[in-house]
Amino acid sequence: MIKIKYYEPMDKHTSFKCGGYAKFFYEIDDIEEFIEIVDKCKKLKQKIFILGNGTNTLCVDKGFDGVVISTQNYNKINLEKSGNITRIQLESGASLFKLNKLLRDIGIEGLEWSYGIPGTIGGAVFMNAGAYGQEIYNFVEYVVVYSRGKTKKIYKENIKYSYRNGGLKDKIILSVGLKINSKYSVSVKENQLFYMQKRIASQPLNLPNAGSVFKRSADIIPAQIIDNLGLKGVIIGGAKISEKHAGFIVNNNNATATDIVRLIEYIQKVVYEKLGIKLEREIVLLE
Ligand SMILES: Cc1cc2nc3c(=O)[nH]c(=O)nc-3n(C[C@H](O)[C@H](O)[C@H](O)COP(=O)(O)OP(=O)(O)OC[C@H]3O[C@@H](n4cnc5c(N)ncnc54)[C@H](O)[C@@H]3O)c2cc1C
Repeated sequence: MIKIKYYEPMDKHTSFKCGGYAKFFYEIDDIEEFIEIVDKCKKLKQKIFILGNGTNTLCVDKGFDGVVISTQNYNKINLEKSGNITRIQLESGASLFKLNKLLRDIGIEGLEWSYGIPGTIGGAVFMNAGAYGQEIYNFVEYVVVYSRGKTKKIYKENIKYSYRNGGLKDKIILSVGLKINSKYSVSVKENQLFYMQKRIASQPLNLPNAGSVFKRSADIIPAQIIDNLGLKGVIIGGAKISEKHAGFIVNNNNATATDIVRLIEYIQKVVYEKLGIKLEREIVLLE
């Protein structure tokens, strides 16, 4: 059943653990509820924001004067195996942790690099999440979206995705089809732990954050640039550039969303003034 909350504090639903309220906050359980709410909002000309696990999202302090639809309870996963091919259909709120657990249980390798990314598959596809030289689109077969009142299955070949951009702007991701071509392996758990250890060693997981703040490219590695400019440890209000990983901003001490936004802008300004490089924000603002 659809659950509605009014003036819901978004610090409870985003990994930065700060920010304002969402005027309306809906939690849906199935596709019918999802479409019903979207149609209703469109009719009433309400702004909509689809929220997965909120691990790449920062809600501004003045809040969001619209409808947040949380997909967290819409999270079933179906898996079919035929020879070396495994096809997985996921409702958009299924977490990458749940997916990785399933793959570990049946010994299918390929996605271990994503173990430790704390998002949902909807968020991962929307952002084209990736790590350690892989990205989710390497495994996407199709995405089912809801757009302009219609459900459409779009095959990967017809999606213009790019680095940290799933190419589905203004579309609602209902479900995702993944295709993995790999044999049974006994090493899945070991591989997952390997990647998790790498994260623990390099990322400030003890403090609220939303992963890498800026997009990288072949020749722009934001964390390196920020580190080389000596900006690690810079603080604005309760927000701090992580000492452990210069590409992360952490909520160090009851930061407001404004502190974080000001720190992002400060980094962009310094990097531009010193090097002429425009760093592009990866984190999504809910505003
Ligand atoms: C500690 C930490 C480590 C991280 N490491 C990585 C990493 O290695 N690689 C990486 O790429 N990211 C990383 N991230 C960022 C984040 O976890 C990923 O981008 C993740 O895929 C976002 O998923 P989410 O469900 O939390 O998305 P959210 O933050 O909820 O949403 C992100 C965007 O996706 C949109 N969205 C979500 N669901 C849907 C849907 N169903 N339909 C349409 N739009 C939707 C939202 O509207 C928003 O624009 C990290 C974050 C943290 C906190």
